[in-house]
Amino acid sequence: MEELASKAFKSLFPQKTPPRLTIKFSGKFSEYNANVRIEKIGRIVTGLEFGLSREFQESDESIIVGVIQHLLNKVYKTNIQTVEQEFYHNFLKHIGTYTKAKKGDDLLEELFEELNEEYFSGLLDRPTMIFGNKTLTVLGNYNYHKDLITISSSLKTDRELIKYVLYHELLHKKHSFKTKNGRGQYHTPAFRADEKKFHDKNIEKKLQKFIRGKKLRKAFFG
Ligand SMILES: [Zn+2]
Repeated sequence: MEELASKAFKSLFPQKTPPRLTIKFSGKFSEYNANVRIEKIGRIVTGLEFGLSREFQESDESIIVGVIQHLLNKVYKTNIQTVEQEFYHNFLKHIGTYTKAKKGDDLLEELFEELNEEYFSGLLDRPTMIFGNKTLTVLGNYNYHKDLITISSSLKTDRELIKYVLYHELLHKKHSFKTKNGRGQYHTPAFRADEKKFHDKNIEKKLQKFIRGKKLRKAFFG
């Protein structure tokens, strides 16, 4: 398997010396999901571990090369196209997993860019992001099948709170765990650990206070 990773690397960056490359298949991912873990010393990338969902094991070699190249482009912030990546995208389109993000809300997209840089090394694919109902019960939601994040319009007045709720939903995208019946998402310890990395450590308190205030106003003024 590791030869596939080095093949993917060499054809993308013939001049570059590859770091240590490993591929891991896992049943924890949802179908045809993949990610990459970067090991760094200072600014030097010393190792890349590609995590691929189990289904890829039965895929054609060129599809695996394609998905790895797709991730390599993200790691090195390049946009080098190859036939294998085309194979990979076409393949995903056919099985219906590949949903190209639609143009969403401008503010949410701006916040996404910030969050992607700050917490995901720019590696997350942009989902479609929109504002939904003015609900206080569900502040945010990530729909895996549509790759769609919906944020409650009740937060619209507070940029920081939107950013925090958006961050939470992006973590659902990153972790992409699904239950067997395809419903529900877990807040695993790994998820919670990521969530705590948010720069404002008081944000959860601020959010609760904001909701309490809104609910009070609603109770008084309807
Ligand atoms: Zn959640």
